[in-house]
Parts: sequence; C-alpha cells; structure tokens
Amino acid sequence: MNYQVACNTPFNKSLLTYQSDERLEIGQSVTAPLGKREVLGWVIKEDDGEAASLNLKSIKNKFDEVMNLSEHEMKLYSWMSDYYHYPLGQLVNDALPKSMKRPRPLEAMISSKVEHLEELTPDQEEVFERIEKSLTDKFSKHLIHGVTGSGKTHIYLHLMKKVLKEGRSVLFLLPEINLTPQFLDKFRSVLDQKIYAYSSEVGASQKYQLRDTLKKNKDPIVIVGVRSSVFLPIENIGLIIVDEEHDSSFKQDDRCAYNARDVAIKRASMLQIPVVLGSATPSLESYNSLINTQLYYPLKKRVHGFNLPTIEILDQRENRDGETIEHWPLTRKSMKAIEDAYKNGEQALVFINRLGFSSYLQCSSCGHQFQCPNCSTNMRYFKARNEISCQTCATKTTMPSICPECSCITLMQKGYGTEKVEQVLKEAIKGLRVERFDRDEIKNLEQLKDSLDRFHRHEVDVLVGTQMLSKGHNFKKVNTVIVLGIDQQLNFPDFRAMERAWQTLVQVSGRSGRFGQPGKVLVQTHSPEHPLFVHITQHHFSEFYEEELDLRQRATCPPVAKMAVIYLTYKDKNILIKKSLELGQWLEGLKNHHYDKVDILGPRPAIMEKRVNKFTWTILLRSSDLMQLHAVLSMCQSNLDNFKPVQIKMDVDPQVIS
Ligand SMILES: [Zn+2]
Ligand SMILES: [Zn+2]
Repeated sequence: MNYQVACNTPFNKSLLTYQSDERLEIGQSVTAPLGKREVLGWVIKEDDGEAASLNLKSIKNKFDEVMNLSEHEMKLYSWMSDYYHYPLGQLVNDALPKSMKRPRPLEAMISSKVEHLEELTPDQEEVFERIEKSLTDKFSKHLIHGVTGSGKTHIYLHLMKKVLKEGRSVLFLLPEINLTPQFLDKFRSVLDQKIYAYSSEVGASQKYQLRDTLKKNKDPIVIVGVRSSVFLPIENIGLIIVDEEHDSSFKQDDRCAYNARDVAIKRASMLQIPVVLGSATPSLESYNSLINTQLYYPLKKRVHGFNLPTIEILDQRENRDGETIEHWPLTRKSMKAIEDAYKNGEQALVFINRLGFSSYLQCSSCGHQFQCPNCSTNMRYFKARNEISCQTCATKTTMPSICPECSCITLMQKGYGTEKVEQVLKEAIKGLRVERFDRDEIKNLEQLKDSLDRFHRHEVDVLVGTQMLSKGHNFKKVNTVIVLGIDQQLNFPDFRAMERAWQTLVQVSGRSGRFGQPGKVLVQTHSPEHPLFVHITQHHFSEFYEEELDLRQRATCPPVAKMAVIYLTYKDKNILIKKSLELGQWLEGLKNHHYDKVDILGPRPAIMEKRVNKFTWTILLRSSDLMQLHAVLSMCQSNLDNFKPVQIKMDVDPQVIS
C-alpha cells in the first residue's frame, strides 16, 4: 500500500509518498527515510495514484502512539498549512511536543476549598445571558468589548463554570500567564475542576506527558494557556475563550506565522462550539466582523460605578520657550504628579517601551553614531553595565570613551529608556523608592514574582516599566500613571501604528484607579495635536474604531482587504536584491495574466534591512479577493526553489510589516 506522508522537511511542501507492507492509519506518526536520514512524518492519506508504479522507499517504523494525530488535529493542521502557506509536516512537528521516554507529569491545579463566585452585576448579567444561549453544539463567535475594570474576567468565569458543570472542558487563551499570577489564583479559587497552566515555563517533558494525559482524559478540565496551547488535544471542549484577543503575542513571528486567535476561531468552527473573544481594545478585525451583529457586547462602564481615570496630554516641547526641562525626560507636571502621589502615600507607574539609559550615542563634533556591526540599528547605552548593546542581536561592547572617527571625547547620550527615568526619579525626589520592571532587570519568574509582591506590599513607590507592566495588573494604591515615548509608536511606518498606540494608551491607563480612587494618567508627547489623543482623553468607546475603519477603507488595508508579506533574506545583499527583483517580476507576471485583483508592492528593503549579518527585503501583497491572494501565495510557495539560495518566508495577516 502507498501512503502520502507529511514529513518534517520543507522539500516538496513536506508531502512525500512511501510504501508500506503494513497497513497504516491516517494520522499515524512514522519515521520515514529521506536521503540518508530518517525523518518524522504523519500519514495523510492512502495514495493509489500513478506514484504506485515508481520505485518508492518504504516506511519501516511506526513512531509513537502519543504523537499520532486525531481526525480533528489533521483537519486543523491541514487548514493552517494551506492558509499560512507553511509545509504541513514541519508545522505538525513544531506544534507537537518532542517524544520522550520517561516524561515528567505536569501537575494540575485543583483547589481543595472552592470559594463562592460573586454574582454578576446587571450589565455583566446581560452579556452572560446572551452568550449562555449560544453554549450549544453550534459554532458562534462573540466579542466582549469592555473598558478596563468592567469585569470581563468575571463573565468568563461564570461561562466557564456553566460549561464545566455540563461536563465539558474549556480552553482559555491569554497572551501571557506569568506576568499576572493573580489571574490564575482567581481561577483556582472559584473553579472546581483541574486547571492546567500552559506557558513557556512548562518543560518539554511535561508537554509530552500532558499530550498523553489529554488524549486519554474524558473529565471536564480547564487549560489556561498562551499561544501554543491552541493546539492541545483536549477532548470534549465546550468553549474557547480568547482574552486580550488584540494582543500581538498571539501571533508567532518565526516559522509558521500563525495567529492563535484566528486558529482558535477556526478550531471552534470545526468543533461546532462557541468562541468568546474579549478585550478593552479589540483588534479592528474582530470589531469590524462583529460590530453590526447581535454577538457584539459593549461594556462601557467600570464596575461599582468606579470612574475611568482622567487622561491629560502633556506637551513635551515645553522647553521650546528656552526653558529647559529640569528632570528630563519627565516634564514638570509629571514630576509633580509623582511627588503628590508619594506624599499621599500612594504609588505610581511610569511606562516607557524602551530599555537602557539612552537610545544611542552620538559624537558631538562629527555626528558619528554607534551602529551595531551586525545590524542596521544603533546600539543602546546601559549605564549600570557601562556598555552599549544591540537589542536585535545582543552584541555588546564596553562604553566607548572616544569617537572612532574623529577621536573627540564628547559623546552625547540621545534619547532615554527605563534606566534613565529610574535615575532621574531617584535623584529628584529624596527617599522615593524606585525600581525597574523590564527585561533587563527581571530575567526569571522568581524575580518577577518578587518584584510584584514587593510592589503590592508597598515596599516600592514607583515602578518604571515597559509593556510588561501594561497587561492585566491590578494595583490597589496606583492612581497615577505616566506614559512616555508614545510618539515612537505613533510614528512607526505601519498601517497598524495608530491602532497599537490606541491599545497601549487604553491598556496602560487602565492600570490607574482600579479600586475606586480618582485615577490620573499623564501622556507626554511631541505632537499633542494628534487626533488620536482626542479619542483617548474623551474615553471614546467606538469613535476611534469608526474613524480608523474609514482610513483603512480608503487605504485598502485590513480588515477591509487581506494582506500578506513575503520576506526574502540572505547574507549577500547583491544576490538578495537580484532575487527579490526576479520574484517581484514573476509576481507581476502572475498578476497581469490571471490575478489582477492582487496588488504587489515592492520589493523594497525591510525597515531594518540588516539583522544579525543577514539582509532582508520584502514584497507586500494586498487584495480584497481572498481566493486570488491565496492562489498567488500558493504558486509562490511551489516555486521557492527558483529563488535559491535566498530564504523566503510568507506571513499571512501580518501584525507588523517590518
Ligand atoms: Zn566624531
Ligand atoms: Zn545587532
């Protein structure tokens, strides 16, 4: 008998034909000979085509029962392989754990004493009841669009309890588990079934054991997991929830560029179950797909009548009058707000999405900047470590004392990061306890928990942090939040720049005044007249979306049109450019003959053209016709060999066009 097998290889889209004397099941994991080696593969289908006459290699070994795919898994992975144009065998190999001889179990959390789950507020109750009606054997997609502090989690918990009670399992996806330990504690305290937390902390061995456990398990359970938990073989799922559905960490950058939210939606539709998306700042995609339906649930108020914080936009150009900012980069108003909070016995947060002491160094006489030797980017200065380092490839070197071009000894420190702000605050306010909450300072889970614990106990007055601090935290004594560096996000050359800045500002503001005190958020910017700030300060709920959708419509960008990016990468720039132009021309040819509804933009250099000694160019494809777009991508995938040795990667529904 002959079989088509999806092998762990990019060759021929990973689909190869083998013969086997023994009968094989569809989904069976096998080891298959490929050249001189053996690779892992999965049986896709029986093959009785013309290949039968060829001299086929034979499959010698079934591999591992735990690694076999169910019918549902086969369907889901096949869809992903087609949609994201990624070889099926490689995709499955990446998604499944590694096979282990003596795996370690992953402990489930289960509470010995379950607490009573508080009642829903009338607003929450209404949403719950409407979604509850859909908890049947039918696919439905829901969006809870609720301001920060409106109690979305509370609605999720009631829905989960209901589904578990009916004997079915729940898959709960969130961008990041470790940053918010309180979240998991809450789940454990009110749900009376086993909860498995699935994050990057789970070891390879435990992942394998969990797969085995889940495949055999029939009891209702809860999986709370990050992106890759969307693949877990949970039997009898009754509900999938995607919290913070807008978050870009649901999108995988390397290898198969899938978005776990979209895979979750697809999975729910294949399983004929409901999927609930939730966010204070939904993606334009989700908003647009549900706004005019009965499955969109706005929650415009915080619980208990708590108010949203007041948001003030501060003009960072105040030193234009010749007045210097004494505590640069913090304006006088920001300093005053932090000082007031301190005097009132409260805490404050300062956000900047940049690490280090300064963004780059520049020679004061000749203007030389210190670029990374391997990447087209400047090295950042880290004062405590006395070094400059590249954020892309981690190359670092001791802080230079003279300019290599002109030997001048005055090197200006330009821009700022968390380290700078920490120092400014410490020097400006006597006795103020300031700590940093960023990747530079916090390197493991223990440090993270320790830092958060001490902040909760008020042993620290101000936390200066990056995005790590913006997600989901609830701090009792924080009513003051300062936001720096939003301009960089607003000015990023990408059609999603506004959406991302909006999401950052709303999420960050949401950390203020969570417990009923009047909250205050100060946003420093060089362009206070930017239209986005009107939506932010007025707490507009849907106006931003309507305006942004209109812009996307006019620019033919998602969600109105579909997009894909082709990345070409190679170490030799000349060869790369030649091949990029060839691919561009070939695509133009396709467009002119059959696919006139696909726009082809580029090739052009990537925003960061050189990364770790490799160069990248991009070609952007855009179309309102999904069929045509995928047809072009599919042909491109079949033709990759013609563009060797350049490495080509496709990204469908890109989050960032870099
Ligand atoms: Zn110089
Ligand atoms: Zn570098």
